[in-house]
Amino acid sequence: MGESGRVCQWVLADGKICGLPIGGGSPRACKLHANAGNITSINDTKEHLQKNTRDYIDLTRLRFTGVFFDKSLFSPDKPVKFDGTEFVNCTFDQCTFFNASFEPFKRPCRFKNCQFTQCGFSGCRCSFRKAEFRCDRTVFLDCMFILESSGAEPACTLDFSECTAVSSGELFDLSYVQCNTFTMEGTTVNGGSLTFFVYYVDNDIQRGLGLSLNRVGRISFSGLRFNGRFVYKQSPHLGRYGPSLFLSGINFAEMSSAQFFDANLSGALFTNSIIEAIRFHNPVWPKEQGRLILYDQIERNSRTDISTDDIKELTRLYVQLKKNYELDRNFIDAGDWFHREMECRRRLLNQDPPKNPFRRVIMSSFFSLYHFVSEYGENYVRPLAFILLLWALFAQIYLFTGFAVGGESIEYYICPECSLSIQILWDFLKALVFRGGTMLLQLGRSVTPLSSWTTGLAVCQVLLTLTLVSLFLLALRRKFRR
Ligand SMILES: [Zn+2]
Repeated sequence: MGESGRVCQWVLADGKICGLPIGGGSPRACKLHANAGNITSINDTKEHLQKNTRDYIDLTRLRFTGVFFDKSLFSPDKPVKFDGTEFVNCTFDQCTFFNASFEPFKRPCRFKNCQFTQCGFSGCRCSFRKAEFRCDRTVFLDCMFILESSGAEPACTLDFSECTAVSSGELFDLSYVQCNTFTMEGTTVNGGSLTFFVYYVDNDIQRGLGLSLNRVGRISFSGLRFNGRFVYKQSPHLGRYGPSLFLSGINFAEMSSAQFFDANLSGALFTNSIIEAIRFHNPVWPKEQGRLILYDQIERNSRTDISTDDIKELTRLYVQLKKNYELDRNFIDAGDWFHREMECRRRLLNQDPPKNPFRRVIMSSFFSLYHFVSEYGENYVRPLAFILLLWALFAQIYLFTGFAVGGESIEYYICPECSLSIQILWDFLKALVFRGGTMLLQLGRSVTPLSSWTTGLAVCQVLLTLTLVSLFLLALRRKFRR
């Protein structure tokens, strides 16, 4: 008992006590922890770390005010742990952090008007999860996060998830990241801009505006809430490199702008995001059967339990992409998104049919015909072919239902023994002309239908032809509307 009374009782992140000899001021704490954890000079911290015999550095539940952390402070091979630590008006200059954990065991870390300049973060993990930044300058300026996998942790991660950042400067600038996973999941950033440059080159460190990410396989912004300028830029000269990109649950419309340059989106998920407002410059989308498709759909198609809600969500995304592309006056690709939307609507109809059987039949025949005749208004050759086909087909039929040209009535009866004669061919040509007349809405002017059968058929033909012509014109317009 007497022995434990003479060492510092400050509780560290792992629940153990500090255990250093008691200093002058306090009866229960060492020099570092004496002033209820309030620290205004770096000397106590330095002295403390020199006495530290643990294999990690623990600066839990302290409050640093106006402290300048220089490069001599942290060692490049001892992990650093912070928990519920507050920093006010502090600067970290050229510090080297190994496996830095600013994530809470109990309470989050807070940074007020602090700045990291030319700091290096190494090890296999670096976490600022749930940290709060309220800064009037760039928080991470000219910093390097170079994380490498180890046996124990194969996925080296830079974790900025669930953070809150209010900054009149930037969160990152001129900084560089190299790791497997970079995440800002569920983070809220208020003000400034977020700029990311993504590329994939060995032995190459590029730094520019914002944060450069090299060789990062998995990038997550899911659930990000941000109201400033968002820029995601990819090096266009890197072939097929496309990271797993998580962009789910983000309202891009609440950002002042959201731009993607040369982004490879072949592994990008957008589920539950508002994406109409994004500006895509030269994006790479995945393709299936020659048409653009969202990776969200590829990923779901590979599962067997694709639900009605999934398809509804895909439909919503395709509608937004279609609008997005139409605003951008890219009508050809907008057509691809429209086609995907129609596919989803048709699928939805099969999975979740309307209760009314009549409505169900009408709807599903509509989608089937719409697809069959014009590929959802995307193909103009098909409706043209159908117009010609209908023309010839109905000329045939009119031969047998009867029609009159210039007072002379023509009607054939089906007789298998009848041989083909010049007269039949001549009358077939007349029927073609008659059909042509019907299609041009000149019904009854130069040619007169004879029976009510013929009249009924003629009305059907006018309707069908009108439909086909409008589908043809629609597809033609889509193709050349630029
Ligand atoms: Zn202590």
